[in-house]
Amino acid sequence: MIHTGYGQMRWVILLLAIAVIVPTVCLLWFLTQAVKNERLAVRQKLITFYQGQLAKTIEKTDEEWSWNCQLLDMEAVVQAGTHRYQTFVSTVDGNRYDGLIIYDAAGERLYPLLSADVNSPVESSEVVSEAWQLEFIERKYLQAAELYEQEAKSGGDHVRLRALIGKSRSLAKLGELDEAIDQCRQVAFSPLEETGDAALLVLIGNARLLMMKFTEGNPKYSTLFEETFSKLISMVYTANRAGAVLPADHNLFFAQKAVEILRENSFLQDKMRSAAPRIEKLIAAEERSIRIAEHFPTAAAFDNWEADRFRRLQAGGEVIYGLYHKSRDGSLLVSLCAESIASALSHYENTFKGSDVIYRVVDDSGGLRTGLEAPQGEPFITASAGEHFPGWKIELYFRGGDVFRKAASKQIAVYTWTGVLVIVLILASGGFAGKAIGRQMKLNRLKNDFIATVSHELKTPLASMRVLVDTLLEGSYKDQQQASEYLQLTSKENERLSRLIDNFLTFSRMERNKQVFRMARSSPAVIARAATEAVKTKFSEGRCRFEITICVDLPDVLADRDAMVTVLVNLLDNAYKYSYDDKQIELRVFSEDGQVCFCVSDNGTGMSRRSARKIFKRFYQVDRSLSRRGRGCGLGLSIAKFIVDAHKGSISVDSKPGEGSTFTVKLPAVD
Ligand code: ADP
Repeated sequence: MIHTGYGQMRWVILLLAIAVIVPTVCLLWFLTQAVKNERLAVRQKLITFYQGQLAKTIEKTDEEWSWNCQLLDMEAVVQAGTHRYQTFVSTVDGNRYDGLIIYDAAGERLYPLLSADVNSPVESSEVVSEAWQLEFIERKYLQAAELYEQEAKSGGDHVRLRALIGKSRSLAKLGELDEAIDQCRQVAFSPLEETGDAALLVLIGNARLLMMKFTEGNPKYSTLFEETFSKLISMVYTANRAGAVLPADHNLFFAQKAVEILRENSFLQDKMRSAAPRIEKLIAAEERSIRIAEHFPTAAAFDNWEADRFRRLQAGGEVIYGLYHKSRDGSLLVSLCAESIASALSHYENTFKGSDVIYRVVDDSGGLRTGLEAPQGEPFITASAGEHFPGWKIELYFRGGDVFRKAASKQIAVYTWTGVLVIVLILASGGFAGKAIGRQMKLNRLKNDFIATVSHELKTPLASMRVLVDTLLEGSYKDQQQASEYLQLTSKENERLSRLIDNFLTFSRMERNKQVFRMARSSPAVIARAATEAVKTKFSEGRCRFEITICVDLPDVLADRDAMVTVLVNLLDNAYKYSYDDKQIELRVFSEDGQVCFCVSDNGTGMSRRSARKIFKRFYQVDRSLSRRGRGCGLGLSIAKFIVDAHKGSISVDSKPGEGSTFTVKLPAVD
């Protein structure tokens, strides 16, 4: 049994609060943990995913470069057997490398070789030197030409070609262009081009340049000009049939001149549109190769180099990387500019295109090579760019910092909503439980009040009845009239007691939903008269004026007669109880708008509007001290309302403090 009392109530509220707060707080804690874990899990998932992608890309880079090194192996074999320009051109042409140095199996450099490195200088003669003196110092072109001619007939190939060139030059200076061209042609188109003598190639190249100078811009010789240009261009970056090649410095010079001529002559350009950029690229690569070669005269320079790994080189102002590859037949140093390495690592661009990730390639000195320029925060993955690029790193960053949050947000939303729902449910059930407990406690308090009231209400009539009966039994009364007075009083108390008990029983049945009404067509007049009869004795006492007005031709009502009598008796009883000594009570029965109205009015205490709204509630009493005086337990009107409601009628009160009250009961009339 629950004990009433505020102390008990406080405990119940406290326990209830704990029952709601503890799970709510726990749930919130779990929720925060779950959200945190989800973020971590998503972060880990994303990192693992991108680590996988990065590993695949790096693997691809490694495979590609291993294959490139194998190709170099083949190229090293090829170059040993044939001319070295073939390897150079094939590596540069395919945009594979920006420079190349070739060494033979003994470590001696094969490419690039300058004229100074080649042991075949252009032979000269004293006569040629004399003629040269006449031509350039004394400017005696005729004598010079004659001397050159004389030598051209007697000397070996080198001297002869040199002399012919000198003669041609001197004739041109004398204004004999046709003759000069004729002489020059003998060298420029000489069949000696196909011999294995590189020095002869240099002379032939020079003659071709001279020929181009003679014929340039002269429509008469345009065909010759073009023909000579083709010859010139065909001798650079290539070997002749005998395998001879120009020394790298001469090759570079002729190539540069060829590009110059090509750029200056639009009609040549039309024919050889694509030649210039290609040759320019070869020129740049050759220049670079010559520059690098100065630092690595023999392959011994690479003794402490790890093979097939890119390493930063010192080559002028350019940032350049070299990879040294060794094979059975020789070795190679291929070089790549930093930009070319960056584009060689372009797989990353494709791998992370359209993803939330931005990559960054950082070289061995920590400089950005490609990718994101100004990263925010730390990379979430840093990895080596592959075995061929020691010191190079790939860094991965997330585009926009809240990627993890974004990725986790869906799951977090599910958690949050579930959490919110559960918290709402906990709070709601806590609220309902609190309300139910409150109601239960109130009911218990009412029950206790009820028991106390019942005991009190029953005790008073029983006590007075006992006194009266004892007096009669003892015979201590004056005469027969006093005896019958005592008996009448006893009967009145008995009647009051019966009414009280009736009310309690009705209330009890009402509470247990056990009240049964026996509805029957009844006359309102009969009901009103029966109620009047019940209170007649009481109302006849003292200064009480009671009036009853029943309209004629009243329609019947469908009612439980006894129950309706109880209602009216309760109202009349209250009118009596809550009136002052000079009582004026009236019962009027009339019909109105298809309803039968029973109005009980008095000139009693009346009540406030606020009280009037509550008096039909169980155990409600406006003024407990007053009602004690008038005797009652706050049940009469609640019983009356219950009965009237069961008859589908209504009960209301119109009252003002000190001005009396009027209670109206309306029941639907039967047609
Ligand atoms: P009680 O047994 O206390 O009379 P009721 O339910 O009959 O219980 O009435 C509830 C309260 O309504 C009363 O305690 C009283 O304060 C108020 N009341 C009822 N009838 C009247 C009336 N005619 N005049 C003034 N107050 C009334």
